[in-house]
Amino acid sequence: MQNPLKILFISSEVAPFAKIGGLGDVAGSLPKALREMGHDVRVVMPAYGSIEQAVRSGQGGVEPLPGQLLVSMGGSIYPAGVFEGRLPGSDVPIYFIAEWNLFDRDQIYGYEDDPYRFAFFSRAAIELARGLEFRPDILHANDWHTAPAVTWLATTGQAEDYHRGIPSLFTIHNLSHQGNSGWDILDYLGVITHSLTEEGFGEVNFMARGIYHATLINTVSPTYAREIMTKEGGAGLDELLRYRGGDVRGILNGLDYDSWNPREDLRIAANYDPDDMDGRIQNRWALQARANLPHKEDIPLLGMVTRLDWQKGLDITGHVVYLLLNGVAGEVQIVVLGTGAAHYEQMFAHLAYQFPDKMAAFFDYDPGLAAQIYAGSDMFLMPSLFEPCGLGQLISMRYGTVPIVRATGGLVDTVADGVTGFSFLEYDSNAFLNAAERAIYTYNTDRKTWHEIQNNGMASDNSWERSAEGYVKLYREAIARMD
Ligand code: ADP
Repeated sequence: MQNPLKILFISSEVAPFAKIGGLGDVAGSLPKALREMGHDVRVVMPAYGSIEQAVRSGQGGVEPLPGQLLVSMGGSIYPAGVFEGRLPGSDVPIYFIAEWNLFDRDQIYGYEDDPYRFAFFSRAAIELARGLEFRPDILHANDWHTAPAVTWLATTGQAEDYHRGIPSLFTIHNLSHQGNSGWDILDYLGVITHSLTEEGFGEVNFMARGIYHATLINTVSPTYAREIMTKEGGAGLDELLRYRGGDVRGILNGLDYDSWNPREDLRIAANYDPDDMDGRIQNRWALQARANLPHKEDIPLLGMVTRLDWQKGLDITGHVVYLLLNGVAGEVQIVVLGTGAAHYEQMFAHLAYQFPDKMAAFFDYDPGLAAQIYAGSDMFLMPSLFEPCGLGQLISMRYGTVPIVRATGGLVDTVADGVTGFSFLEYDSNAFLNAAERAIYTYNTDRKTWHEIQNNGMASDNSWERSAEGYVKLYREAIARMD
């Protein structure tokens, strides 16, 4: 191996300590895979209320470090505490920045002072590394919350001998949250700079600044990396992304193969693996029982596990489900699990009410039932309007359930039509129905091909090891830029 790298990995979410979405999963998994490759990676996140609580009650293996961290913000020095723990199942150190006023709250986001909270966190993370005498070879920052660290390092930081020459990688997990604030936040951060075209008068956009100032930028799939450079997918930042186009890359997220493994998953009715798929039938019975659907063996069972959000393609789903329940492609059963917008709940509740022996809908956040749907369905529906990477399709393939997806973002990069699943391009119900019909036809008439598609999905490599290799390449490229 080439020389191991020192990586300072900073994120507002790290699973299992605090997680809202995919960002938390990445931050909980990627550093472990990097560590297994021999790199020295240190993770830093804020000490939210739940973490302060864990420290106070002596739980969770998180301990306060002695002393205080002094953080210079807006010309004043503010003290902060630091807690230390390990990413579960690894020896990767994780540090928590403890500042009661800013982070000891119930929620991760949603406060008016969020830009100030995360500007403080970003500065503190860099200061912490210095305090630990850990001069990173690279700063890896994630989403707008840590963009202030990228901006500081690329501006004020370059004036300090200690920080000069440290490159940054800025990863975009969710382009739609951009971290807008008033101009005074730059004084608070200790940065003197010019405004960007993307920023309104007197306004700072941290997502834009991360993109502008980072040595390299990436997002979580190659196709999404291209899509965000278009007007439709750029959330107002496409011009800036095109300007940095030569430095924007896509690396697919991995799937946590330890948590998602049909051979060992304790949440499902029976375990199985690609060499012995017998357990799948029991999972089907268990799912049908749970969903109160008749036990039927030879009809396709379609599953869906999703946030009930417009991003997930639900506006083209109702009509398709209605037609399928009416038998346009023969008999089917459908099980939906999701939480979110009330009007989508109503849509699915109404369909389930109309067809009680064919469809069930659960409006809960229920990881156990989710696993049972992945293990007990034949097909998995994921008609997303946009999808930076997507986990549902990766999980369903791992469990031998064939995904039917819209060809967007990470779904393009992970599901091959007719090989590992079925896909459609146009964002409309007809295209979706057509793909579902093709899948159902194959299932009903050509089991040999069906099993091949199942096996191809189960054999595809979506591990974190593969993603981590992609990240290390990017780190080395960013480091080489500084020479
Ligand atoms: P996103 O992060 O945009 O919601 P992904 O496909 O990347 O979409 O990840 C969704 C993850 O959340 C998957 O692991 C999926 O199983 C899980 N999930 C979504 N909704 C639910 C739910 N209601 N209950 C349990 N798990 C869910």
